[in-house]
Amino acid sequence: MIGHADKAALFAANEERTHWHDQALWFVRLKRDRQAESIPEWEALREAASAIKAHTLSRLADYLEEFERNARANGIQVHWARDGAEHNAIVHRILADRGIKRLVKSKSMLTEECHLNPYLEARGIEVTDTDLGERIVQLRREPPSHIVLPAIHLKKEDIGELFHKELGTAKGASDPNYLTEAARSHLRQKFMAAQAGLTGVNFAIAETGGFVVCTNEGNADMGTSLPPVHIGCMGVEKIVPRTKDLAVFLRLLARSATGQPVTTYTTHFHGPMRGGELHVVIVDNGRSAILGQETFRRSLSCIRCGACMNTCPVFRRSGGYSYGYTVPGPIGSLLAPLRDPSNFSSLPFASSLCGSCSDVCPVKIDLHHELYAFRQELVRQKIVPFHKRLAMAGLSWVLMRTWAYRLTGGLMRRIVPRLPRALVYGPWNPWGRQRELPQMPRESFRDLIRKEPK
Ligand code: SF4
Repeated sequence: MIGHADKAALFAANEERTHWHDQALWFVRLKRDRQAESIPEWEALREAASAIKAHTLSRLADYLEEFERNARANGIQVHWARDGAEHNAIVHRILADRGIKRLVKSKSMLTEECHLNPYLEARGIEVTDTDLGERIVQLRREPPSHIVLPAIHLKKEDIGELFHKELGTAKGASDPNYLTEAARSHLRQKFMAAQAGLTGVNFAIAETGGFVVCTNEGNADMGTSLPPVHIGCMGVEKIVPRTKDLAVFLRLLARSATGQPVTTYTTHFHGPMRGGELHVVIVDNGRSAILGQETFRRSLSCIRCGACMNTCPVFRRSGGYSYGYTVPGPIGSLLAPLRDPSNFSSLPFASSLCGSCSDVCPVKIDLHHELYAFRQELVRQKIVPFHKRLAMAGLSWVLMRTWAYRLTGGLMRRIVPRLPRALVYGPWNPWGRQRELPQMPRESFRDLIRKEPK
């Protein structure tokens, strides 16, 4: 299997795209910073969110059962799915039993994780993603490259070309307003023709049996208020105990995700519409196994804001597809190998361990320490490739011996400046083109310090 570094190199080979991908995400990160700084109690909110999640995870089964009882009392039909296959089968059964052939969907990373779209399409159901970014990548037959900004890897010119081919917009048109208007008319027809709507779930509230969906485009609201059947799909970790907990999470979510004070639409569902049906599918799909791992269970606290991706220097320069998993970035680098350590063994190494992800995480997941712990775990299990283990063992040997460290440092000072530039900046090393190596001083650091008083 191709590891993260190789796929990242493919992305980074296009320097221009790498640069604007980096800049676009950094822009979002700065917006998030401004929002966080505007709230004096920001750190207290993060503490509260972290504590609520830790408490909820410690009594997850109780809260899920409480949610089920209250949801049923509200007239919601609750289904349980052990894994992605069961989830897909349940959704299909709900649709097939009612003869439904057209489904509109708002953003749901869970359904991406379960590969619901191809499953339903293979059974004759037309599935339309209605979030604009999701619809763009769906038309390109690609997965999202970011959990909040699914088409962030594309430029407006790429989208203009796609819409010209798929929606018949003018050739060469790339004006965002024009393209958005075209997408709006296209999606309006899909909404009007839909027989069912499917949404993700941002938060499910145990004490009321209702759930909340946050969007910026209002597509979840359109998709659930026009057709008579609504299916909400949630991972078990989406539960919060009380309605008042929402106040904490809703203040953190949009600010962390896109730097907005609040998502444009925050919709509460507490029962079916008159004459309609509301279903909730609660999915485990490996989450209980993660809950059983003390070191990594906090990864289940994630509220999928994407802030760790926007800030991560590796993600910004390697793109979401280099991770090869539904959820990329620092949190995906934990979730993917937690499910399948052999296939995703390169992901915990796709981090500089700078700690920026942990600093921005609204629920205070200690991401970089968990990534570091995961590396150690992979080495212990001998899942890391031999050449990497050998390099690490060599480096460790050198770093533990002062004389070897000094000798290697001295050799590096003499050798690196004499290396042909092609070795560092050659086409085989796209990372080298992204950065200038510092000039190595001829003298050792110790000698330089000694000279300082002069
Ligand atoms: S790990 Fe934290 S920062 Fe990353 S997506 Fe989840 S909640 Fe957001």
